[in-house]
Amino acid sequence: MPSRGLIPINRPVMDDEEIRAVVRVLRSGILTSKSGSGTNVMQFEDAFARYVGARYAVAVNSGTAALHVSLLAAGVGRNDEVIVPSFTFVATAETVVLAGGTPVFVDIDPDTYCIDPNELEAAITTRTKAIVPVHLYGLTADMDSIMKVAKDHDITVIEDAAQAHGAEYKGRRAGNLGHMACFSFYGSKNMVTGEGGMVTTDNREFADTARSIRNHGESKAYQSNILGHNYRMPEMEAALGSVQLGKLPSFLEARSKNAAALSEALKANQEIQLPLEPEDYKHSWYVYTLRLKGSNAAKRDKVVRQIRERRVDCQVYYPKPVHLQPYYKAFSPVELKNTETAARQVFSLPVHPSLDEKDLDRIIHAVRKALE
Ligand SMILES: *Cc1c(COP(=O)(O)O)cnc(C)c1O
Repeated sequence: MPSRGLIPINRPVMDDEEIRAVVRVLRSGILTSKSGSGTNVMQFEDAFARYVGARYAVAVNSGTAALHVSLLAAGVGRNDEVIVPSFTFVATAETVVLAGGTPVFVDIDPDTYCIDPNELEAAITTRTKAIVPVHLYGLTADMDSIMKVAKDHDITVIEDAAQAHGAEYKGRRAGNLGHMACFSFYGSKNMVTGEGGMVTTDNREFADTARSIRNHGESKAYQSNILGHNYRMPEMEAALGSVQLGKLPSFLEARSKNAAALSEALKANQEIQLPLEPEDYKHSWYVYTLRLKGSNAAKRDKVVRQIRERRVDCQVYYPKPVHLQPYYKAFSPVELKNTETAARQVFSLPVHPSLDEKDLDRIIHAVRKALE
């Protein structure tokens, strides 16, 4: 019998095309775009803006940098509050603190795992500067409801679309739903550059400020008008990103097909809640997340262990909500019921494009056995 390797939770899909693109940059000897030399970053930005349907795209060197730059461009600083979900990767809240602001955590919708728009009004104060909805697992938040509340209170909305490349909401793509949006090209994401990120926006002023912050706050060489960073994306990564962007539609199609196969096979099981893809939404299936209904953490963890014993890389996103993590406890005296329940009950399965029929069978079998 052939040895059966671990099916990883996510895996970048690359071939000779990516290798050639990166080697071409290396041979050119032009590794950065800073002094107007390299063109790969600009080309990647143009193609990415066109893909999401936004006017501008600003490449940076991580999704975390994209969030930090966006918050700074939105004017978030001392004494400002930013509303964020707690059921997310820590970067969503971390960058608020880095910008000098205070994260205000609100609860999620238990069906979509995204921020609950009904919780926003109660969290808004005169100090609220921005809202950062996260399109968790690749499903966009309910953006119409969020944008309406934001408009009423003159608040900037920054999408955390780090898991949502190509996700759609009412016919529009993530990255074109809020005032700004942030993407990550970290090695596990739906498209990769290794490390990398992008800010997209229709707002010229936000784009110009983001570009300047990315490069030490300079307006021209050696003239810093504002406080900045070095958040520039290298040329090699941009070359890799352009190739990956061209393949993204086929990646998403494969993810969607895999998700459909998992749902079809698991839908009869009454113990689990399948991931939702509401009408008018297109999921980007970063991971395939199930909920063990009515479970506690110990029972869920046992299911996860049993699936992993069958060499399927089952993971929990996220076992500890941000507002309960040691550093962030101080920011939030609140209890977030839906968030804390979800953190005890969810587990995620691989759904990435390189799964074949056999892998899907193995995943389904592992889940069924674990739930017996
Ligand atoms: C990956 C991720 C980030 C951070 O992106 P990096 O490129 O790793 O810095 C931020 N938010 C969410 C929801 C993510 O999944």
